[in-house]
Amino acid sequence: MRIKAYGIKQKDGKAAPFYYERGVGENEVRIKVLYCAIARGDIQFISNDWGDTRYPFVPGHEIVGLVEETGSRVTALRVGDRVGVGYQQAACFECGFCKEGNEQFCAQQKVIGVHCYGGLAEHIVVDNRFAFKLPPALHPARAVPLLSSGLTVYSGIVRAQLRANSVVGVLGAGGLGQLAIRFLHKMGHKVYAFSHSPEKKEMINQLGAECIPGSNPEHLATISKTFDLIISTLNVPYDLDDFLKMLKPQGKFCVVASPLKKQPVSIGLLYDYAQRTIYGNYVGSRKDMMDMLAFAAKHNIESIVDIMPFSEMNEAIEKVRAGTVKTRLILENHE
Ligand SMILES: [Zn+2]
Repeated sequence: MRIKAYGIKQKDGKAAPFYYERGVGENEVRIKVLYCAIARGDIQFISNDWGDTRYPFVPGHEIVGLVEETGSRVTALRVGDRVGVGYQQAACFECGFCKEGNEQFCAQQKVIGVHCYGGLAEHIVVDNRFAFKLPPALHPARAVPLLSSGLTVYSGIVRAQLRANSVVGVLGAGGLGQLAIRFLHKMGHKVYAFSHSPEKKEMINQLGAECIPGSNPEHLATISKTFDLIISTLNVPYDLDDFLKMLKPQGKFCVVASPLKKQPVSIGLLYDYAQRTIYGNYVGSRKDMMDMLAFAAKHNIESIVDIMPFSEMNEAIEKVRAGTVKTRLILENHE
């Protein structure tokens, strides 16, 4: 089938109609795209910030749509099912990582932007094991950011193996940070959010966290050995040492976004009477995705979104690039 997508032909170019041929393999499903997010990561792909973008690049790694064709071996999904697709579209399901349920590390995996085209399109074809049934309780547009941002923070939190009633900090209250606050709050932990934006205090409180202004270094220096986990969603440089000192002994610092520049760290803070850990987390496994969607549906966790039509995709891309959107930006397909 000839698939109509919206591709970017060169670095920092505009999205324009772009067609490619794509059949449906025996384990695959074709999905009619209903909603597709434009995220900061898409802009970084358009600008080739990581050096691995392949043009034409079709953005969109958080997608909600309807299954419209299934391959001959697909039994878990049916035509008409409402599904979500994230960053990963395929894996080998035979290697060690796949067999242990860590398909996100499969060397044969296919991810949007590097190996295949994204969801800014009329249709998309993916392995059915990477099309996840969306629980009925979730709103199709407000759930879109769960599929990559939500998975990344949820999986990072789960890996911390927190005890009940832990004390946790969230750095940054943008798209990732807001979801981290919601998950942690609904898991029953005491949540604090560090934010440089005073106008976000009310929103942070509503999400279930107390706000700690991040702009006062003297105040930050007084917080010591308080947190079991700090999760950083910041992509601007910050003083990592300040936050490591805030971790209790055996506390963990989880990075789910990173500044493009190197971050210095005083490595002694990891062992001085502390056993602290720094780890990174990026997307998650299929099991994490299914657990996360079920948890989000049960606790009514969705993102704050602005919806624009596909016809305004280039305006949307510019808005996200300029950083003028305060919510997550979702494109809706009316065709
Ligand atoms: Zn594999």
